[in-house]
Amino acid sequence: MSISDNIREITNGLPKGVRLVAISKYHPIASIEEAYIAGQRIFGESHVQELQEKVKSLPQDIEWHFIGHLQTNKVKYIAPYISLIHSVDTEKLLTEINKQGEKINRIIPILLQIHIAEEETKFGFTIAECEELLNKELSRLYPFVTVCGLMCMASNTECETQIEKEFQTVRAFFNKISEQKNTEYPNFRELSMGMSHDYPLAVNNGSTLVRVGSKIFGERDYSLH
Ligand SMILES: *Cc1c(COP(=O)(O)O)cnc(C)c1O
Repeated sequence: MSISDNIREITNGLPKGVRLVAISKYHPIASIEEAYIAGQRIFGESHVQELQEKVKSLPQDIEWHFIGHLQTNKVKYIAPYISLIHSVDTEKLLTEINKQGEKINRIIPILLQIHIAEEETKFGFTIAECEELLNKELSRLYPFVTVCGLMCMASNTECETQIEKEFQTVRAFFNKISEQKNTEYPNFRELSMGMSHDYPLAVNNGSTLVRVGSKIFGERDYSLH
């Protein structure tokens, strides 16, 4: 199957209100162009330099999302155009995004990343830490940031019960915040969950943004960096 077939098949299988973020990291410009021609407009990248190079060469109406671990010293490069940063994992990063947003007078949309997986290597807040952060009235502290929801990565396991349990835990927390803090965070609407191997489970458990890479573009070529 071609990239455009994959895009169409995945998109057609998604319920209304769930959007596909095509994760194009380590894939060449030509592959992104093929997905673009098939109608895909949201792409996700995880390295600032790679993203910067792609943005320069690709159509202006692409919505770029940042999904990887973001270093504070790199925020300034993407602040002017990034549509959504999925991977805010420290308050320090939030502070920096706010600072860069203020400099250019742009309110930057972000998601808070939840660490739910068993692996220690993954980034993000525990649910308790995230709740504590959201209790701080972030809209007042960081007016150049808008909190649009949560992102998580499930454990890298074959066990669907485990994956589903993690998605359900994050979903329950997401629901709680959307209901209780609707006034404080009016844009808190997005739940970014699900990758190539687990996105159908994520969709069944309330995901609104699925981040699919290899199922669209094939294996990544890590020699690109
Ligand atoms: C690479 C990546 C994806 C896409 O992974 P695939 O398994 O290729 O679909 C999704 N989310 C994050 C955070 C990633 O880093």
